[in-house]
Amino acid sequence: MDKESKILSRGAKCIRCKKQAEVPLPSHHANFCFSCFEFFFRNQVSRGLKKMGVNPHAPLMIAVSGGKDSLALWKVLEDLGYRTRGIHLDLGLGKFSRSSLEAIEGFARDRGLKWSSYSLQQEFGYTLTEIDSILKSKTCALCGRIKRGLLNRLTIREGYRILVTGHHLDDEAGRLLGNLVGNRQEYVRTQTPFLPSPHPRVPARLKPLYRVDVSEIRAYNRITGIRPVQDGCPLSKGATSHYFKAAMDLLEKKMPGTKRNFLFSYLRKNKRNTSDDTFGSCLSCAEPAYGSLCALCSLKNRIREKSGQAGRLLPTG
Ligand code: SF4
Ligand SMILES: [Zn+2]
Ligand SMILES: [Zn+2]
Repeated sequence: MDKESKILSRGAKCIRCKKQAEVPLPSHHANFCFSCFEFFFRNQVSRGLKKMGVNPHAPLMIAVSGGKDSLALWKVLEDLGYRTRGIHLDLGLGKFSRSSLEAIEGFARDRGLKWSSYSLQQEFGYTLTEIDSILKSKTCALCGRIKRGLLNRLTIREGYRILVTGHHLDDEAGRLLGNLVGNRQEYVRTQTPFLPSPHPRVPARLKPLYRVDVSEIRAYNRITGIRPVQDGCPLSKGATSHYFKAAMDLLEKKMPGTKRNFLFSYLRKNKRNTSDDTFGSCLSCAEPAYGSLCALCSLKNRIREKSGQAGRLLPTG
């Protein structure tokens, strides 16, 4: 008997088929048997995609890390009939990166799915371990920025127009709370599960798991036999996002449904279906950029400066 079953009262019934319930979902005031839970999970993702107006025939590039979220996402999109391809960025984090690759390899091989892997060291010139040891702070935030920039480029390079990521309800509610607490209005304004393409060389971005939480993803993986990487990222300690997620967990525990209400009420009032970003071209690499340098070239300059390397990227002033 697993953890979820233990906290179900004896004789609890699945609200859909009335058989023995196995998965409790307090935030939905519901219990499900395994097969109805799988139906529920797929339905949540499918509802999210419909709300975003995603063309069911559009090919989707899926950012896969090998973790529980991205593998669940890949499976559910395949089951919903989408044409998918996985894309992985090997961050160069030693054993963790090797285990992540193995998890993706096993998952894709068992299901006959196609995917590509790129190395951060080859695409950017440094591994994440090197970046962490040079800059020594806010590695998670930098990692997010690097992944966003590189995966956008690689998606376009592979001929895809939509990049899909495994961000879920906990990520999005925690992020919204963090941005509100820090009064980062520009990020609050752009928080949406669907960001349309703002430039011919920047893909649209989708977060189809925004309606399901971590416990639901774990239950889905267990029921469907998904085996994500078990190790944790060695650089995850100290990320401030953990504190905001923990605060939301506390509220959720006392008042089930809080995360959903918090995020969904915000999304209802802040429907953002166009992008007002204005792009030029990076003067160093010619990729789309907001300013004179793209985020990746700016970061490379910081790394070079900090490590005393010569050869700052243009422009200098
Ligand atoms: S935990 Fe932080 S450093 Fe590690 S992969 Fe995630 S964002 Fe990157
Ligand atoms: Zn059922
Ligand atoms: Zn650039």
